Amino acid sequence: MSDASELWTIPEKWRWDETNPDFAELVRVSEAQQKKWAEKFNQPFATKTSRDIEMGRAVIIAHSHGNPVEVAEAWAILGRYDLAVELDPRPATGYAEIWRAITEPTEWCGHGVGPRIKGQHPQYREKEVWNVLTGSWSNVLRCSECGHRQVGPLPKHLVKQEEKRAEFKRLVDGGMNPHTALAQVNG
Ligand SMILES: [Zn+2]
Repeated sequence: MSDASELWTIPEKWRWDETNPDFAELVRVSEAQQKKWAEKFNQPFATKTSRDIEMGRAVIIAHSHGNPVEVAEAWAILGRYDLAVELDPRPATGYAEIWRAITEPTEWCGHGVGPRIKGQHPQYREKEVWNVLTGSWSNVLRCSECGHRQVGPLPKHLVKQEEKRAEFKRLVDGGMNPHTALAQVNG
C-alpha cells in the first residue's frame, strides 16, 4: 500500500531529456503540427464549413450566460425549443421565427425568381438549424427584399457558392496559398 505522503513522479522513461535526439525529433514534429493547426485556425472561414462555424457558435452561445434572446436562439438552432422558450417566452423573437419556418412551410415569396444580375440574388442562406421535424440539419433561406423565411434545399446559385467554398477549403488544406486558391476557384 502506498503512503499518502508519497508524491507521484513521472516514470524515468517519460522524463524530459533535451539531450535525447528522439525527444528533439518529437519536439520538431509537434511544433510543425502546431504551426499547421494555428494557420488553419487563423483562417476559420477558409478551412471550416459554414455548418461547423454555425454549430460551434451556437454551442458556445447556448452554454453562455449572455443575452437571453441570443442564448434562446442558439438553443433553437440546436433544436432545443424547450430551453429556448424557458429563456425567452416571447413569440415574436428570432427563435420563434425559425420554429415557424420549420413547422409552417410556405411557398417562396417570389423575389429573385426571374433573371437577375450576377451576384444580386435576394435569396440567401440565413443559417443552418436542426430541423426537429426531419431530424436533420436544414437551411433557413431568407429574402433580402422582403424578409421572407423558408426552410428548404439550397437553390442553384447557393449550391454553386458552396461548391466553390468546398473547393477552396480542399486547396488550402492541401497546402495551397489562400490567394492562389481563391484565384483558382474564381478563375
Ligand atoms: Zn421576398
